[in-house]
Amino acid sequence: IGGTLIVGAGQAGVELATALRAAGDDRPITMIGAERHAPYQRPPLSKGFLKDPSDAGKLLLRDSTWFAQQDITVACGESVDGLVWESDSAGKALTSTGRKIGFASLALATGATPRRLSLPGADLGGIHYLRSVEDARTLAQGLGQSAKLVVIGGGFIGLEVAETARQSGCRVTILEAAHRLIGRAVCETTSTFYLQAVQRRGTKVRTGAEIAGFTGENGSVRSVQVRDATGNLEEIAADLVLIGIGVVPETGLAERLGLAVDNGVHVDERMVASDGRTVALGDMANMPLPGGPRGDIERIRLESVPNAIEQARIAAATLMGGTESYSAVPWFWSDQGGIKLQIAGLSHGHDRTVLRGDPDSEKFCVLYYLREQLVAADCINNPRDFMAVKTALRTGVPLPPDVVWDVGVPLMEIVR
Ligand code: FAD
Repeated sequence: IGGTLIVGAGQAGVELATALRAAGDDRPITMIGAERHAPYQRPPLSKGFLKDPSDAGKLLLRDSTWFAQQDITVACGESVDGLVWESDSAGKALTSTGRKIGFASLALATGATPRRLSLPGADLGGIHYLRSVEDARTLAQGLGQSAKLVVIGGGFIGLEVAETARQSGCRVTILEAAHRLIGRAVCETTSTFYLQAVQRRGTKVRTGAEIAGFTGENGSVRSVQVRDATGNLEEIAADLVLIGIGVVPETGLAERLGLAVDNGVHVDERMVASDGRTVALGDMANMPLPGGPRGDIERIRLESVPNAIEQARIAAATLMGGTESYSAVPWFWSDQGGIKLQIAGLSHGHDRTVLRGDPDSEKFCVLYYLREQLVAADCINNPRDFMAVKTALRTGVPLPPDVVWDVGVPLMEIVR
């Protein structure tokens, strides 16, 4: 009673508890997480941990001693089933074990769950989604010499799993519905680079693939059915399928609390939801676009660790009575074997791109501009330029399009 209740013990929940303590909050903090594991990181689940899932301890965000030292109560394997604000400064939660927990401040950090594909055969054995440590362990069991893996969805998770599986000896095919890979996050140039890089490594890719269903034998998947332009079905053999077609924000509790929800819980730039007192953060939060409206896009839901960390910092300030707004430069990374992508800024609404370097060398950047002003960059195996772009976006030092194309000009020198 009297403290903060954090619903969801994932990246955002833990970062919030951390930020509250770092900001000097000495009130009780209780974090409730539906998964039975101590809070852990998800990024390795499609990368190192998928290759070698023997040590889940390496995934932990914090060890139990840290939580005890910080006087943060963490309950795992328990979900919050109901929430009610009884006054402006006091509310109650009901959990799956029948506990009633009082709170003075409430934070929702319930994350997201994989979008499911509902097609004939989609419940056959061997068809996987990837969000949790259990998902990764089960998927890892099937990877191995000459297993035929079909990845449905050419986004970040699909590409990462495809590369990890290929390195583990699988024969991999990626099926993407759109006409290019990672189309929601990057421009055509970066998509084309990925297509060629993935194919160079021996993974097959088919874009514009319409999935019709799955065939099976003895309850296990045997093929993925793809419909071609003429309506004919083609079968692509599969021992294993990974479906990575995006996530759905977990907003059930927020909706029952009466909060405004549309592709995530709507929060303001201080992470406050529509009731004016609940904060929400992480994959489930939909916030005003940092940097103001561009075109008709005014809000965004980001799914990344750096975003969870930054929103946690802002939410902590809010819960401590501060007025700080989200103004950081969003950034993201993805790692696929030898390809490390770092994205700085948000490319939405850009009207021009400039290529810096040669994609065939697997080290280059694409810089995005809106009205001649830099708004974002995709940096492949190029951490220096990534840091330069991130700095430029933070400080406002211009990196003009007629300069940045020249790899002979070090961007770091300009922004320093
Ligand atoms: P989550 O981590 O999903 O945590 C939410 C938690 O809340 C869950 O444990 C859930 O069980 C719990 N919960 C939900 N409802 C309730 C309830 N009612 N009661 C109690 N608990 C509840 N990001 C990057 O930046 N770079 C990467 O390379 C990268 N790779 C990734 C690879 C994979 C395979 C995945 C799945 C994600 C990856 N991400 C990556 C994304 C990143 O992990 C997420 O953005 C981050 O985990 C979001 O944190 P979150 O706390 O908002 O959500």
